[in-house]
Amino acid sequence: MPALASTTVFVTEGMIEAWLRLSATRLRERSRELTELDQAIGDGDHGINVDRGFTAVAAMLDGRSADPAAPAPDVAGTLKQTAQTLIRTVGGASGPLYGTFFLKASASLAGSPQPTLGDLIAALDAGAAGVATIGGGQPGDKTMLDALTPALSAARERLTSGAVDQVLAVAADAAEAGAAATIPMQARKGRASYLGERSIGHQDPGATSSAILLRALADSFQG
Ligand code: ADP
Ligand code: MG
Repeated sequence: MPALASTTVFVTEGMIEAWLRLSATRLRERSRELTELDQAIGDGDHGINVDRGFTAVAAMLDGRSADPAAPAPDVAGTLKQTAQTLIRTVGGASGPLYGTFFLKASASLAGSPQPTLGDLIAALDAGAAGVATIGGGQPGDKTMLDALTPALSAARERLTSGAVDQVLAVAADAAEAGAAATIPMQARKGRASYLGERSIGHQDPGATSSAILLRALADSFQG
């Protein structure tokens, strides 16, 4: 999507598929690192969990495109099928949390056959709000919200200032900074919270996978 500036930017279903496929590739490449982060403050399965989930999402996309009877997918429908696939295949806390993220994002776009970049940011925001609701957490608790929340507020700020170019790159930068900022935090949610002060000094695996998803979004939309 090279010419983002000033004009209204539409988000196509193909762009969402490209994002999901790049996410699957990147999560596979970094699965070991994510698992090592989870070995430090959890049970050492986060990389395996998200790799399994997004591999299943890529397989779902492949299966659908090979099926001549499948209806033409739209953005909301693809996000919903992604949610269902993740809920079915990802073990651990991150399965229902990422499932909720994509499900709430899908619901937010249900009435938008031709969503804009602003609609997508609002939808991902609704997804993050869903994670906060079902997980009972908030930024500062050392979770995926520490990447998602600053990323989406940076994206919103960029959009409202009218500078829509680089909006997703700004979001990805904020997500990576947010993930790094979890290192000195003490975990207050999830398995890592059982460690109390011993969770300090390690980067949160879920915040790291969320930053990978947001960087994949920026890179895939860049074309
Ligand atoms: P599990 O902890 O069940 O083994 P994973 O290892 O796949 O699941 O995922 C762990 C990640 O899930 C954590 O690093 C954290 O980012 C995220 N997480 C756990 N609980 C919550 C919660 N209540 N709210 C938001 N994110 C959470
Ligand atoms: Mg784990």
